[in-house]
Amino acid sequence: MARQRLGQHFLVKGKILDRIAQAACGDHAALAIEIGPGRGALTERLLARADRVVAIELDAALVTYLRERWRGESRLEVVEANALDVDWSQWGRGVVAGNLPYYIATPIISRYVQGPGPPGQAVFLIQKEVAERITAKPGGREYGYLSVECQFFARTEYLFSVGPGAFQPPPKVDSAVIRLTPRTELPLHDTDGFTAFVSTCFRQKRKTLRNNLVGSCAPDLLASRPEISKRAEQLSVEEFVELYRALGHQVNPVEARSTIHNFSAAESETRRDSTS
Ligand code: SAH
Repeated sequence: MARQRLGQHFLVKGKILDRIAQAACGDHAALAIEIGPGRGALTERLLARADRVVAIELDAALVTYLRERWRGESRLEVVEANALDVDWSQWGRGVVAGNLPYYIATPIISRYVQGPGPPGQAVFLIQKEVAERITAKPGGREYGYLSVECQFFARTEYLFSVGPGAFQPPPKVDSAVIRLTPRTELPLHDTDGFTAFVSTCFRQKRKTLRNNLVGSCAPDLLASRPEISKRAEQLSVEEFVELYRALGHQVNPVEARSTIHNFSAAESETRRDSTS
């Protein structure tokens, strides 16, 4: 794959690299898993704070470079792989960090929040617009499926913004650093059913929940819920959980799942357009 397509914008501002490592590891972490280490600018900072670092990089030339740079450093393992194809829990419990390739930031974040495995907190540098959507509160324009998905599985924090000048080469968009802290207890066990339900609720964002759910829910059951005259973007995560408990088992799962698929495809198109 061409380098441009791999989202290679290397972070060169030392102060920002330090803040990301600090936000991820605190003063010390046993293990840090890094997604997309590039030439190792953040890796170096993580090695200073963590006992062990596992760095997952897709570009073979960069993998060779990193292994050469840290030859003899037994605390670093460089894994040549697509981060979406490996099970991050295989190295044990650790914090996750990365200046993510923006073209796959949302699938990586979904992967992180939904598991498998119990990772520690994650700190990601991503496109600012995506950071705002992930951390958005109900009622605003930014609040959508991605907000509910992330906030259901994790506590989300918008830490700080980063301008294009911090990167080499500079991306065309603004960036931001977020932190995700997985919830120790989830209010529901059927998480696949829940995310599919939320996706159906947001299918047509400007329409009411009634409009989005009619056809996949029994009308009398729908009518029993006062909130269905609202739009999905007005519901908090807790209200989605409550609504799913009341109606969720009614929603046609095949239809809901295909909605999720369409969502991801549309999302990656948007990102490719805005970052390339
Ligand atoms: N962390 C570095 C590089 C960030 S650029 C820095 O801040 O300087 C994003 C990095 O992710 C690049 O090195 C790119 O090659 C890598 N990458 C792109 N797609 C990837 C994937 N699917 N899995 C793992 N790494 C990937």
